[in-house]
Amino acid sequence: MTEVNQTPMKNAIPAGMLKKFAVQTREDAFSHAIKARIIDYLTDFQLTYDEKEPDIVISVGGDGTLLQAFHHYIYRLKDTAFVGVHTGHLGFYADWTAEEIEKLVISIARNAFNIVEYPLLKVTVRYTNRAESVGYLALNECTVRGAEGLLVADVLIKGEKFESFRGDGLCFSTPTGSTAYNKGLAGAIIHPSLASIQLSEMASINNRVFRTIGSPLILPRHHRCQVKPVSDNEVLSLTIDHLSLVHENVKFIEFVVAEKKIRFARFRPLPFWRRVRDSFIGEGENS
Ligand code: NAD
Repeated sequence: MTEVNQTPMKNAIPAGMLKKFAVQTREDAFSHAIKARIIDYLTDFQLTYDEKEPDIVISVGGDGTLLQAFHHYIYRLKDTAFVGVHTGHLGFYADWTAEEIEKLVISIARNAFNIVEYPLLKVTVRYTNRAESVGYLALNECTVRGAEGLLVADVLIKGEKFESFRGDGLCFSTPTGSTAYNKGLAGAIIHPSLASIQLSEMASINNRVFRTIGSPLILPRHHRCQVKPVSDNEVLSLTIDHLSLVHENVKFIEFVVAEKKIRFARFRPLPFWRRVRDSFIGEGENS
């Protein structure tokens, strides 16, 4: 029987390949103190602090800090790897603790490591009054809401109408984002080896007149999903991870698994399901 590889794409990198680094922090004194220590240690190891073209970005804070770091360095995803240190409670992306800084710094400077690539969501907004579109990449999710109340829109899958949605909004998440907002909407948790996007509803109206599927949908790579407002001059309110945006004159918004990926530097194994357990269940007697 052929065994299916269930781990996201992994590349082994020999020691000494990380020469330039940057640190992104949450705006608090403790995170700033950790940043100063990381810069001291890594420059002692002859690495260069380079905010423009880092080989590795160390995010110090929480998951929100990692999301900010991702968007800050979105123009060099092919060349930059990310690692997260949490200075508050356990993070989903930020898995090193402040007490482990020395261990992390030695690993960055001296050890071989793996690059693990996770899927991203590509969002394209098309307008009724101009030909150019606007594109975004999301690490967690994109949510769509009506700016002035209900979202009234058709949902199309692979160009074919699937349903008419009426309700608070829709959430399109990546596999790693499936444990974030999507989870609060009763979406499924998706392993990041499944390059997919998940569509979850926010409070849809379901009665004898309006009907939606109700269940979250998981779409594979290359299945495009479009959200098309029913009225012409709809103003939509979007979130891309932590960013909030308003778009006017939206013709439709398209969602698909992005070709680009985020690259995390893994200096020790961190199985996805263990991270899910530690984040949401804890290490109780049943684990
Ligand atoms: P933040 O940094 O305070 O993050 C909010 C919470 O989401 C934190 O507890 C964080 O640890 C957690 N989180 C973020 N990404 C996660 C992931 N992939 N898996 C598990 N938990 C994750 O605030 P922010 O910087 O504004 O974060 C934006 C994120 O917050 C959004 O991408 C969204 O997923 C999440 N969010 C969730 C809800 C909800 O669950 N109802 C509502 C709004 C936003």
